[in-house]
Amino acid sequence: MVVVMEERASEEQVQHVIAQLVEKGFDVHRSTGQLRSVLGAVGGNRSFDTRLIEVMDGVHEVLRITEPYKLASRTFKPERSTISFDEFRVGGDEVIVMAGPCSVETEEQIAASAATVKKAGAKILRGGAFKPRSSPYSFQGLGEEGLRMMRTAADAEGLKVVSEVMDVSQIELVARYADILQVGARNMQNYTLLRELGKSHTPVLLKRGIAATIEEWLLSAEYVLSGGNSDVILCERGIRTFESYTRNTLDISAIPVIHKLSHLPIIADPSHGTGLRDKVTPMARAAIAAGADGLIIEVHPDPDNALSDGAQSIFPPQFDRLMAELRIIAPAIGRSICLEPVARRGWGA
Ligand code: PEP
Ligand code: MN
Repeated sequence: MVVVMEERASEEQVQHVIAQLVEKGFDVHRSTGQLRSVLGAVGGNRSFDTRLIEVMDGVHEVLRITEPYKLASRTFKPERSTISFDEFRVGGDEVIVMAGPCSVETEEQIAASAATVKKAGAKILRGGAFKPRSSPYSFQGLGEEGLRMMRTAADAEGLKVVSEVMDVSQIELVARYADILQVGARNMQNYTLLRELGKSHTPVLLKRGIAATIEEWLLSAEYVLSGGNSDVILCERGIRTFESYTRNTLDISAIPVIHKLSHLPIIADPSHGTGLRDKVTPMARAAIAAGADGLIIEVHPDPDNALSDGAQSIFPPQFDRLMAELRIIAPAIGRSICLEPVARRGWGA
């Protein structure tokens, strides 16, 4: 149930309603908007008589949330959520690009990647140190050493870091080095992991499972939100369909669907979404045109020799071109994107 407080409700009235809900066995999550407070009450008794709350001082209205996910829903929070990282935020007007290699491989590789993506306008460096590989014989990632290399490379360029956490035991370690904890497609329904991430203070990038419906995906987000971590970014990374030409089918329609159902930001991953280098740019353009709040893209200084996902990793010049195109697409739909670096416009010295 959602309790919408009146615009003029006093803090005392809000606290009184919270206390009453807690007393009736609900978990209460408060969202303080510009005009009013909204209380999301989850748990409790299904047959609870909402009129008991409706009549309380300061209460504007009480709504039953019919969706199975509550805190992730637009009913609970009508305005879009944004997640702030010092000088930028995800989910606002600006389109945010995360880019870098699939895996952190060497100091030189991650440093070159960081410099490339920064120069083109990315804000966040991606790279896996713990890799969920389909085969146990494939490269599994460098672990903590990889995280350290990535943090160093990102700091040298003023970038944030997103990296995958595969298991509960890795949360604390990855959070020491990364600004965003990625939950991979294979782990979208690892509820033990999601519950633990709910206790973390680090934002979570939640990828859609390869066979997950949008509702299942939002329920996974609900696990993190209900644990107390409200910083969740969704990532559409393609689902498995009967089509075999591409590695996955990037579900672009999930972007407007999520924006209607949820206040959470959503980005797209055209790299895993297609698995083919030459399909990454067209799908990245399409995702931004469809309203995605950002992208996560695999870029590698030497894709032909990458230790993972080389075939879907784009070359640095392709990334430069894509960013230049996004600078045309984003404003056309009322979004902004970082301006082209001054040096490459020929300004200044
Ligand atoms: C990745 O980002 O490299 C990755 C393994 O992603 P996904 O979980 O979407 O397959
Ligand atoms: Mn990858």
